Amino acid sequence: MLGIISQYRTWLDLPDVDPVTLGEGATPLVPWATWGETDIFLKLEGANPTGSFKDRGMTVAVSVARHEGARAVICASTGNTAASAAAYAARGHLSAFVVVPEGRVTQQKLLQSLVHGAEILAIDGNFDEALAVVRRIAASNREIALVNSVNPWRLRGQETGAYEIVDELGRAPSGLALPVGNAGNISAYFQGFRRYGKGIPKMLGIQAAGASPLVQGHDVEHPETVATAIRIGKPASKALALEAVETSNGQFLAVTDADILSAQKELARGGIFVEPASATAYAGLKALRERGALPAGPLVGILTGTGLKDGETPLQWIEQTVHHTNSRTVGDTIQSLLQEARQHVAH
Ligand SMILES: *Cc1c(COP(=O)(O)O)cnc(C)c1O
Repeated sequence: MLGIISQYRTWLDLPDVDPVTLGEGATPLVPWATWGETDIFLKLEGANPTGSFKDRGMTVAVSVARHEGARAVICASTGNTAASAAAYAARGHLSAFVVVPEGRVTQQKLLQSLVHGAEILAIDGNFDEALAVVRRIAASNREIALVNSVNPWRLRGQETGAYEIVDELGRAPSGLALPVGNAGNISAYFQGFRRYGKGIPKMLGIQAAGASPLVQGHDVEHPETVATAIRIGKPASKALALEAVETSNGQFLAVTDADILSAQKELARGGIFVEPASATAYAGLKALRERGALPAGPLVGILTGTGLKDGETPLQWIEQTVHHTNSRTVGDTIQSLLQEARQHVAH
């Protein structure tokens, strides 16, 4: 059973598509910690084929687009949607056009799009403007399918993250924390838990303080945050996300860039390397814990994407350096580092 379409086909109400898949889904749900009585699990969506949860939605959106005769896909992107669209389009022998905010997408994410053969169009504007452009182009061109999360098939595919959690825990968790940018993923998880019928967690939508329209209750004209994947001021799925949070008795919460970086570091020091947007989910759980406002468990944090695609940001907190040595002195260097570590523990 390769990929989420073959795994969950009966839940997706799909037309008779031939799946375009790279084996997405079935990502690890790691028991991370127990805080008081509350078990914290983290779902590692960076383990998907292109390194983010976008692949769950993309396999479905691209499969349907091809089934309906599209020749190309198009998307606006802060990076991960583009990488995923590029890979799945390549797998399905379709062209891909990705529109990105100039200078705001990491090199590695652009590189992914390029190696898969996508055409990248960089605009002098932010994500929200890029999305408006691609919506117009797709609406007036039948051969080009829009694969942003406003495409309902994207959300259907992303529902499978919720199915997997229920299948693994035997029920829905009591709370689910995830980063919110364009607000497609929080909407998809909510729909997924509702459809699967094993309970609905409190939906905890975490935003970066500088890009927090859903916390502030109004659009943000110039969103700014280190978490580039959620640097979005006008979430397209706002209405669905509000419904998810209200119906589930959850909440939206903002965390600062400093909180995000420290959460990223804490995860990294525990063996999990995620990009800043993904660390936002964990920063939200930590903030609720500090306020004594953590719901009873079990709680799941969705770590949406790998850290390997954003090498620049951790430079803000990395303290280690490379030890320049040679084959004769490497043993001595290790001995003295071990010595230092022992003293560190002793103090
Ligand atoms: C796309 C993305 C998000 C935001 O998801 P939305 O559906 O836009 O709210 C969060 N984290 C990562 C790593 C992403 O790629």
